[in-house]
Amino acid sequence: MKKAKIAYNYVKFLSLFLFSAIIMLIPFETKASGITVYNGIDYSSVYDFNYYVSRYPDIAYYFGNDPQGALAHFVTFGISEGRQGCENSEPMTPAAGQGLLSGFTVILDAGHGGRDPGCVRNGVCEKNVNLSIVMKIKEMLEAQGATVLLTRPDDTFVSLEYRYCFENIHPEAVFVSIHCNALAGNSSISGMSAYCYTPGNEKSFDLAACVYSGAVYATGAKDRGIKTLSDIKVVYYSTIPSVLIETGYLSSSAEFPLLTSPDYQDTIATGITNGILTYKLLNAS
Ligand SMILES: [Zn+2]
Repeated sequence: MKKAKIAYNYVKFLSLFLFSAIIMLIPFETKASGITVYNGIDYSSVYDFNYYVSRYPDIAYYFGNDPQGALAHFVTFGISEGRQGCENSEPMTPAAGQGLLSGFTVILDAGHGGRDPGCVRNGVCEKNVNLSIVMKIKEMLEAQGATVLLTRPDDTFVSLEYRYCFENIHPEAVFVSIHCNALAGNSSISGMSAYCYTPGNEKSFDLAACVYSGAVYATGAKDRGIKTLSDIKVVYYSTIPSVLIETGYLSSSAEFPLLTSPDYQDTIATGITNGILTYKLLNAS
């Protein structure tokens, strides 16, 4: 009798467990999302939440419970990646003026400038590499509809105080500072790193994580990590989400030719732009 009761309880428990597992699966499988309009464009002819989420495991992982996020992902990446919401439909391109970053302001800060060259290797000044990368990011962000502000649009000296004051009179913006590193007497150290300061400014870490991982992923550069505490003034005194990216080492024999090549600078800019898009996407209310 006792054994039978234990067995009965066991079966009861098991069926309850299985039943709840099935119940947990049902809403996911059958949850309908009627959201198909993004930035005023109706994607219903090519987009279907259930299809999109169920077909791709990565989409399901990130957006299974977030119909709005899934639609934003579809518009941002799905179309260009060839992933469709509905089978056998033609890709759609968002109309002009409907950029994913419209209404979003980014301050780009090219480190150094003018009488301050930054680090110098083989006659190449860091300030010029920084500005070149910044101008590429600017073009890519503007293509997505962002408002881009520059702390310096050319080779002029601007103080650190000017830079963080510039940040703090634009509370609507995020701030991305671009630098290159150098290490005296060492040509083998290479890679990227990022700096942000988070006490009282928690969004800075989110921005740093998005922008930095975008850049590392795009370039395949050695990942030297995000430093959250630093005495770097442009992030320390910032009251808006802000990050400084060290894009690589001009002193590295492997990275010097990369950092000075327009193609690699394009790749860095693409990664950083993708990171800013991701940040915007994750912080869209
Ligand atoms: Zn620098």
